[in-house]
Amino acid sequence: MNQSKPAAGHAPAASDDAWLTAADEIVAAGRRLDRHGWVPATAGNISRRLPDGRIAITRSGCHKGFLTPQDVIEVDLDGLATIPRIRPSAETRLHTDLYRRILPEGAVIHGHSVAATVLSMHEPDRRSSDGSWDAIEFSGYELLKAFEGQDTHQASLHLPIYDNDQDIARLAELISPDLGKCPMGYLIRGHGVYVWGRTMDMALARLEGLEFLLACVLERRKLESRP
Ligand SMILES: [Zn+2]
Repeated sequence: MNQSKPAAGHAPAASDDAWLTAADEIVAAGRRLDRHGWVPATAGNISRRLPDGRIAITRSGCHKGFLTPQDVIEVDLDGLATIPRIRPSAETRLHTDLYRRILPEGAVIHGHSVAATVLSMHEPDRRSSDGSWDAIEFSGYELLKAFEGQDTHQASLHLPIYDNDQDIARLAELISPDLGKCPMGYLIRGHGVYVWGRTMDMALARLEGLEFLLACVLERRKLESRP
């Protein structure tokens, strides 16, 4: 059994193993993201929805490479902290929208890698017919098989890009209708990527696969732009 101290933002009972496990998963995921350089400064956030429906998420303003279980707080489905005066991440609503709409249990990860940021600000490969999103298109990569439902590199998948917005509720409203149609996750322009999975390991694998593909696209564009 895990012996970590209870999270201050949640104050679980000492026997709340499910919460302590979720907090430890979030702390470990933060360290892994930091090793890759995907969560610079205090950027990014990580959450976990427990089987009983509770949502654990990183609090605002902490570096994800140096998290402790006390940096993990509980929020409700509206993204509000269950304990007053504890401030969740500004982007909590983007996590809770995923839990509300398509992920009854699982994990959501948001990172700010160089490749995701740069590519989201360049010419897109594709645009939606109604102009609500641009996208980066991936095809021919063996690693496409890392995404659920893909069993061949001959598939073509797209990663939608939404314009950044400091009004997170408005941004969530824009993205929400598309969530079931984003097998790779989604990008926010000039900002970062959101991925999710039914477990933390699945979300991390998806993020690693996606970041690898984004790095490949970035390298190829650099080669193609050489005279
Ligand atoms: Zn962010």
